[in-house]
Amino acid sequence: MFPLALEKQYSALFVREFRASVEGYNREVLSALKREIKSDSLDVQMRADSFTDLMIFISRLREKGDFINASELHRKIKGQFSQIDAWARDKTEASIEKLFKSMQPKTDGKRYLPTVNISKGLDSNLIDEYTKTNVGLIEKLSQSHRDDVEKIIKKGFSEGFSTNAIAGAIRDRIGVNTSKARFWANDQAGKFFGHATRLRQKRAGIPGYVWRTLEDGRVRDSHGILHGKFFNWDAPPSVGGHHLHPGEDYRCRCFAEPALSEADGDANRINKMRHKHIEKRIEVDNDIKKDVSKAVDIYKSVLNIDSSEIKQKLKVLKMKPDDPDLGLSSGYYDPKTQEIFLDPGKSFGITTVIHEMAHWLDHTVLGKGMLASKTKAFRKFRKAVKKSMAFKEMQNIKKSKITVDSGELICFIYIKDKTKAVSVAWLDYIMADEEIFARSMEQYLSILSANKELRKQLKTKKEEFVKRKGFNHYWTDEDFMAIKESLDSIFKKQGWIK
Ligand SMILES: [Zn+2]
Ligand SMILES: [Zn+2]
Repeated sequence: MFPLALEKQYSALFVREFRASVEGYNREVLSALKREIKSDSLDVQMRADSFTDLMIFISRLREKGDFINASELHRKIKGQFSQIDAWARDKTEASIEKLFKSMQPKTDGKRYLPTVNISKGLDSNLIDEYTKTNVGLIEKLSQSHRDDVEKIIKKGFSEGFSTNAIAGAIRDRIGVNTSKARFWANDQAGKFFGHATRLRQKRAGIPGYVWRTLEDGRVRDSHGILHGKFFNWDAPPSVGGHHLHPGEDYRCRCFAEPALSEADGDANRINKMRHKHIEKRIEVDNDIKKDVSKAVDIYKSVLNIDSSEIKQKLKVLKMKPDDPDLGLSSGYYDPKTQEIFLDPGKSFGITTVIHEMAHWLDHTVLGKGMLASKTKAFRKFRKAVKKSMAFKEMQNIKKSKITVDSGELICFIYIKDKTKAVSVAWLDYIMADEEIFARSMEQYLSILSANKELRKQLKTKKEEFVKRKGFNHYWTDEDFMAIKESLDSIFKKQGWIK
């Protein structure tokens, strides 16, 4: 299993250290900016003099060196990678044990594994190597932030911006570079986990693995199709044109489950798994029970789905306190067990249940184990989505993508005078067919049920998203019309509406 909580913890540390390394600098530059340019004089000579003074001040600041205590930073980062390594060790040990138990005994009644040899402290080399790289990344980002600030000042002066506008641009820059820091940190944590897992398993004599995704809505299609398949450690599958093991792709949260041969892949296990969860009922804790029954009622009021089927098969649960998704997402659907997990601390309860139930319909009820939203039956739906304004807006944002130093892709959104950075991976996630289908079900049911509470929740949710992200990921009612019609015809065929 991917160490989501450790990744989050590491990313928080990385961001904190980056910000600490530039906040002092920013403060000094901003106060010098105020000091040198007391009033925004229109006198050209005065501005030129102030500018010279300011640049002298900045170059002195540069000579003072950075604000990073490298050995302290090294110690902190090393501690984090050691924790991730310990996780990789525990998970590898646990899965090897499971693998061992599942093996058929040989004729002598014993089970044999290849040489298993899991050392306690990995390769401190690997930890050191990653630590060094990561200290370097923070230093590099810190330096490029300073370069950015100098550029902003030069440009601001030459184009005659006010001191306030220049100061504002410097402050915004921290936000943009903080987003970069977060991408880098998450990516490094994932890559290290994948790397440590690979080394441990290979050293233990494990020849290969079954590719495991987290099976949530954020899994990329290119990784989703690998789920359950066996690969040799010497022959990784091709993912988007590169040969990659789990964890090696950008922001990958997949895990290599130790395996001996093709026979350990899911194709050979699937019959055993089927029908295992059929007897589950909707069971929820009291505080989210209301939202669940409201969502089920709304579904039933619009679509003629056999409600006994919903109750019989779907299970809705509250995320446990140690669920790594707690606080990150309001809910998710696990197609393997047909369980929906909800974060009780999140608002917009009804829309969330409707959204997750839509994933269930998509994956399990309509798709029977595959995503129906990707099949031929949904072609008209996908076409309508692509023609919508909201989708086009997201496509345009994606066009602005740039590759940052670490090789990741990010996009910038300009809203008024602010710049926001979003990762292409996240955009791809919210633009994936199954996510669009789940969001469109929220809107579809909100229109057709005319349920006041749902309408209000969805409206607030839309507005908050636009305020935070700067663009729409739902639709206006008008923009949604063609999508609604395409859903109508899908549900008609299904016999769910007349
Ligand atoms: Zn992955
Ligand atoms: Zn979703």
